[in-house]
Amino acid sequence: MADSSEILAGLDRDQSIAVTAPAGPLCILAGAGTGKTRAITHRIAHRVRSGQVRGQHVLAVTFTARAAAEMRERLGKLGAEGVQARTFHAAALRQVRYFAPRLFSGRPMPELLDSKARLVGLAATKAGLKTDREVSRDLASEIEWAKASLIEPDDYAAAAAKALREPPFDAALVAKVYAHYERAKRAQGVIDFEDMIRAAIWAVEEHPDVAEQVRAQYRHFVVDEYQDVNPMQQRLLEAWLGGREDVTVVGDASQTIYSFTGASASYLVDFQRRHPRATVVRLTRDYRSTPQVVGLANAVISRARGELSRLRLELVGQRPPGPEPTVRTFADEPEEAAAVAARCAELIAAGTPAREIAVLFRVNAQSEVYQEALAEAGVPYVVHGTERFFERTEVREAMIALRSYRGEDEGGLVPTVHAALARTGWMPDSAPAGGAQRERWEAVSALVSLAEGMAGGGAASLDEFNTELQRRAAVQHVPTVEGVTLSSLHSAKGLEWDAVFLVGLTEGTLPVIHARTPDAVEEERRLLYVGVTRARHTLWLSHAAARTPGGRPRRQSRFVPSSTPPSGAGQSGNGGPGYPRRPLDKAAIAGKARRVMAVSCRVCGTGLVNGADRKLGRCSTCPSDLDEDLLARLQDWRARLAAIQKVP
Ligand code: ATP
Ligand code: MG
Repeated sequence: MADSSEILAGLDRDQSIAVTAPAGPLCILAGAGTGKTRAITHRIAHRVRSGQVRGQHVLAVTFTARAAAEMRERLGKLGAEGVQARTFHAAALRQVRYFAPRLFSGRPMPELLDSKARLVGLAATKAGLKTDREVSRDLASEIEWAKASLIEPDDYAAAAAKALREPPFDAALVAKVYAHYERAKRAQGVIDFEDMIRAAIWAVEEHPDVAEQVRAQYRHFVVDEYQDVNPMQQRLLEAWLGGREDVTVVGDASQTIYSFTGASASYLVDFQRRHPRATVVRLTRDYRSTPQVVGLANAVISRARGELSRLRLELVGQRPPGPEPTVRTFADEPEEAAAVAARCAELIAAGTPAREIAVLFRVNAQSEVYQEALAEAGVPYVVHGTERFFERTEVREAMIALRSYRGEDEGGLVPTVHAALARTGWMPDSAPAGGAQRERWEAVSALVSLAEGMAGGGAASLDEFNTELQRRAAVQHVPTVEGVTLSSLHSAKGLEWDAVFLVGLTEGTLPVIHARTPDAVEEERRLLYVGVTRARHTLWLSHAAARTPGGRPRRQSRFVPSSTPPSGAGQSGNGGPGYPRRPLDKAAIAGKARRVMAVSCRVCGTGLVNGADRKLGRCSTCPSDLDEDLLARLQDWRARLAAIQKVP
């Protein structure tokens, strides 16, 4: 474990200034890969280990459960004991649960709605609107945006017009649905995620005794990815602070990609105005990527326009040179996917671990063709962000069966797990041939593989296994084969891989077809910047001239630079229809492809696609004749929702 001087050893001069800055407001403004997350974890560890603050008085907040878990892990390694690293939602939930008897007149916290769409659908019917599941989800997103922006139903129409929102119905009707939805929740005695953050705000703002206790507990605040904070979360942060100023914020305006959910980089930009005595540190040295990748990232973002582009910081690469980024055009999507899969296989055969490779796309619907191609090429893969493993019915049932199993801790963990799961009907040797049943069997088998792994690492009890499952469920850490990550660009933020494939870079997909305002187009450009800056070494950008063989022609995304500054001149336009599909040396590829995750229906997003419907990509209950544009819009909204789902 590092001592406090070792904590400073692996930092450059600017990072050290940030880490050792005295108590008080601190703002780290820096580009991707410059060590922002590293600087704040080291700052916390340094302050705790040198005795300046006690770990239990530090609250570090971020936006995804995965980021929070990663921060806890890094803090643990640096020996910063007791620090709370949580998402805004998790911190709020914990606080509201703790104070519930005081806040709700002795009753426990109201139940949390796990999905808004059903209740919103009912509210829409009440408002006289005809909706289906997808439109209900669009309405739910609008309501989510309004609530995160602290906009009440009466003010929705004016605010939506000002923010250039494009709701699925006339804004006055959406406002009506919003009002009905709020009433329906109250009538049922349930709350949604935004209500929970509001309850945490209300608890502190309106209850002096709660405020005193919360502020005595949390004295030092750190917020990562601060450019993504929304007005509701900012208000909670201010309620916690109660006028105090020991707060460190870290952000990169060029990575603002959640404005559509209500996030606003203005809090980052205005930090110094709100805290005039703030220390401001700018980091520009990029420690993540080769100069070639950095050159391309700079080229992408140098063309940015609008308000946030003024805050752009030119990155300076620190790592040794690597290969030039590859820019390729293919005839159609299956050909593009086959080429990506072939290149992944080559990288793996040459020694890059599959887990160090990511294929990133704009909308989750793009994932399907890559799943097919990777499976075909014998490359293991993991789908990130499209489906929540621990929310699958069979996984939840299996976990209940494991928790309630009282049979005799005989022969060790694995036979016990088998015996407990046998009660749910799962049998180790009864894998169904295919389809949804096979997906369910695979999901439960993934839990068994985890038990096998734990048992192999030493004696583990069923209790320990259940605790591990709960921990993983809390951080959505899916037990699965290690493989190439398939992820949306939104879900990839803050993460890094040795090799990154940015695929489907086509007009209409990036920028996505309904990004119509200049601001929305700029947000799409920043998404590409986020994607480019995920790569440490190997970077590939590609697009297909048509979706299907012989289909309607499409142009390459306007954001892909035709040439890049000195260090990063990419190749362009080659490798078209004639791109060789070399036979694969499958024996050389470590691991065996397994379709661990279910393939979701392109229409409803939740139904499972069985073999016969695979070509249409829809489940047996959904229509197959939807207009492509409507489908693209539905899929995009779903991608956005999946990207912003946060785990309490
Ligand atoms: P993002 O904007 O994508 O969130 P970031 O600014 O938070 O990026 P980090 O994830 O903290 O960047 O760091 C990027 C990579 O650079 C990590 O692998 C980190 O370990 C490494 N790194 C950061 N600072 C240094 C340093 N001083 N020396 C060596 N490596 C470093
Ligand atoms: Mg970071």
